[in-house]
Amino acid sequence: MEAVHVIGGGLSGVEAAWAAARLGVQVHLWEMRPARMTPAHRTGQLAELVCSNSFGGEAEDNAKGCLQREIAAVGSAVMAAAQASRLPAGAALAVDRERFSYLVGQAISAEPRIHLHTAECRDLPSGVTVLATGPLTSDALAARLAERLGESQLAFYDAAAPVVTKSSIDLSVAYFAGRYGQPADYLNCPLDRAAYLHWYRLVSEARSHVPHDFEHLEFFEGCMPIEELARRGVDTPRFGPLKPRGLPDPRTGREPYAAVQLRQEDAAGELWSLVGFQTGLKWPDQQGVVRAIPGLERAEIVRYGVMHRNTYLNAPRLLAPSLRLRSGLPVWVAGVLAGTEGYLESAATGWLAGVNAARLALGQEPLVPPAESVLGSLVRYLSSAKSEGFQPMNANWGLLPPLPAPPRGRRERNRALSERARRSFALWAEAEGLLAFRPSLA
Ligand SMILES: Cc1cc2nc3c(=O)[nH]c(=O)nc-3n(C[C@H](O)[C@H](O)[C@H](O)COP(=O)(O)OP(=O)(O)OC[C@H]3O[C@@H](n4cnc5c(N)ncnc54)[C@H](O)[C@@H]3O)c2cc1C
Repeated sequence: MEAVHVIGGGLSGVEAAWAAARLGVQVHLWEMRPARMTPAHRTGQLAELVCSNSFGGEAEDNAKGCLQREIAAVGSAVMAAAQASRLPAGAALAVDRERFSYLVGQAISAEPRIHLHTAECRDLPSGVTVLATGPLTSDALAARLAERLGESQLAFYDAAAPVVTKSSIDLSVAYFAGRYGQPADYLNCPLDRAAYLHWYRLVSEARSHVPHDFEHLEFFEGCMPIEELARRGVDTPRFGPLKPRGLPDPRTGREPYAAVQLRQEDAAGELWSLVGFQTGLKWPDQQGVVRAIPGLERAEIVRYGVMHRNTYLNAPRLLAPSLRLRSGLPVWVAGVLAGTEGYLESAATGWLAGVNAARLALGQEPLVPPAESVLGSLVRYLSSAKSEGFQPMNANWGLLPPLPAPPRGRRERNRALSERARRSFALWAEAEGLLAFRPSLA
């Protein structure tokens, strides 16, 4: 039986290696640290948490909480280590980062089918492979991937705009229209002069996230952060992304003073991103700036804008929902490189990539979790989102198919989504025999 190569011993790589090994396959896990470090990692440990020590909210009505339960049920090594190293953190699952990485390392070294190599991979190996090298993929490998997959399929830093749910947009204010009579594919939020000046003041005064010292960014004109544009002058955003030309408000018949456009992000039409609003503002300030826009006063922000160095593939073009490259190469991609955001999402996609790589080695068909589960909705999003301007995504309720008869109230709706997700994932995992390999961490 062929062995599986896993490149990268971060959050997604360790989970992929663990899942493949637990299915009975030999695994070669390649991690370049400590021989070669990244600009953010500080240790040579596997699964190092580079920044915060939180895996997100644990509550059942939180999509991250639901995803934690899904992967814990199928024996996630990351979740087992997180539970064994947890710290008090209110509603979130936070961990002692050193103990967490130590426990993951112990689990990996105690698994006889996993062979750990400390080396940088500068190219794809020829066999069955899981690529899990994360946002700080080494330069040599990134250059090789750009060559093999096409330069334009690889983004080198992340300039994401906030994403909001459609159900939280006030449609008595926002209107559908395309510029100059183009198809009405955009939602448009009109600002009169007073609203624009209020918004401008907020964005000018908002606090920006101070980037890590290695993240010296030179912005391309095409993805300039909105706060940077605002710094250039009061009218700059109004002649840029907030341009109202060709967008008459159907209620007045006139073009507003400024307009914020939102573009659909997912096939179901529940997620909408603010066009041209890439930002590195601190999250509370970012929320204030978004909610100052007429029509978005109650916006539910499911992903905040971020600006940092990142390496990720254009997943909708390149990846199938099983996370395998569509090109037919026996290569699966997981974690941030696959277009996810966050420790938890990285571990979850790592698990699926590891299972599917092992299944190929075992001569079995790939698996995709049901669309109603959080993991299933995330991998479907990765493979079906708009490829143009694709930006990484985290787990959130907006990715799931809507409920046929949703209860009233956001909390109640989220609970119902969570209940459906939990049930569908458990049934699927049981039917596929995946519940059998429970965690066995010391
Ligand atoms: C500065 C920064 C701060 C972040 N803060 C947070 C946060 O607070 N919360 C959060 O949820 N997410 C955060 N993220 C995103 C975070 O990186 C991911 O959530 C998570 O670590 C991604 O998992 P991964 O497996 O994709 O990548 P990683 O965990 O980074 O793992 C990739 C591994 O591959 C190795 N590697 C790279 N290239 C090679 C190669 N050629 N050969 C062999 N090994 C290689 C690296 O050394 C690394 O160990 C942050 C990212 C950055 C860059």
